Order: sequence, then structure tokens, then C-alpha cells
Amino acid sequence: MNDGTNIPDRAAPRKLRIATASLAGCFGCHMSFLDIDERILELTKFVEFDRTPLTDIKDIGACDIGIIEGAVCNAENVRVLREFRRHCKFLVAIGACAVNGGLPALRNHIPLADLLTGVYRDSPDNGQVIPNDPELPLLLEKVHPLNEVVRIDYFVPGCPPSNEAIWKFLTDLIESRTPRLENELLRFD
Ligand code: SF4
Repeated sequence: MNDGTNIPDRAAPRKLRIATASLAGCFGCHMSFLDIDERILELTKFVEFDRTPLTDIKDIGACDIGIIEGAVCNAENVRVLREFRRHCKFLVAIGACAVNGGLPALRNHIPLADLLTGVYRDSPDNGQVIPNDPELPLLLEKVHPLNEVVRIDYFVPGCPPSNEAIWKFLTDLIESRTPRLENELLRFD
């Protein structure tokens, strides 16, 4: 019997293991994912979560799908992204920041040194000191979309992609279909 979620009933196969991460992003794409609401319970019949902000698991294990929101703006982002690439069969760039740099990439037309000088050293509001704590990850000169750092298997556009787009994408993968998002599922507001 189908319960209306469009995921057909079937004998329980191995669950797909999913990890997610937010790099230089606003967590809006994760929030849109959570907007699938009670369907997340249906999803858990077919998937299990590895490292995600939802599980608080810190280290990623072997996964079927890695979903990354946000662009790559610092050395820590590069480390996490490469770690996901090593551990995930399929890597998914979700949202405009991951797909093409999005809002974080707006800084790319300003040299990094000028940016830090303007935002910190020349700003009384920010203490006129450029932060240099060794715990802070080093900023890259430019912000990059994910595919400029590692190979990406799927791109889900939108800012954020709608919950319906994320649901359609995931259920296509669960059902071993090539994910396909019709125009009406795409939005950029
Ligand atoms: Fe936030 Fe939009 Fe970037 Fe997603 S794509 S992380 S919603 S700014």
C-alpha cells in the first residue's frame, strides 16, 4: 500500500546513508530540507543519517550521499569538502552558494587584503584589528563553488531550493531514478 508519500512500499533494502554539511552558507538550505516536515519520518524508513547538523555526529563515515550547502571560502571548508568527497559515493551541491558561489562570492571582486582592511582595520566598530587567532581558518583569496574544488555528481539550484525540490531529488535517488527537477520546482527567492 502506498501512503501518499510517492515512495512505493517495498521489502526493506539496506538504508542509504546520508551526510550533510554547511560550508559558507546560512543554513537556509538545511532549513528548507527540514521543511519537508513529517515526511522526514517517511524518509527515515529508507535513509539513515551520518554526520549532519541534525545528528551532531562529528566525523563522517562511509556514505552513499553527501549533501553540501554553502560555498568554499576558507581552508576548513576545503578540508570538509574533500573529506566528504572521499567518503561519499555521490556528492550533491545544494543551493546557489554551493552551485555557483552565491552570496558569499559577492566578495570576489574585492581583493582579500582590501576587504579585511576595510571591514576590520579601518573600522572603529570592529576594534581596528584584523582577527588572527590561529584557531580561525585561513580565508581563501576567492570564494569558490564546490565543483571548483572537488567533483560534484548532482546540483540542486535555488536559494534555497524548495522543500518540494529537495523531496523530489531525494526520492528520485532512493528509487534509483536519475534525479530530475521540473521548472515549477525551481525557485530563487
Ligand atoms: Fe543560504 Fe541561499 Fe546559500 Fe542556501 S543557497 S546557504 S539558502 S544563501
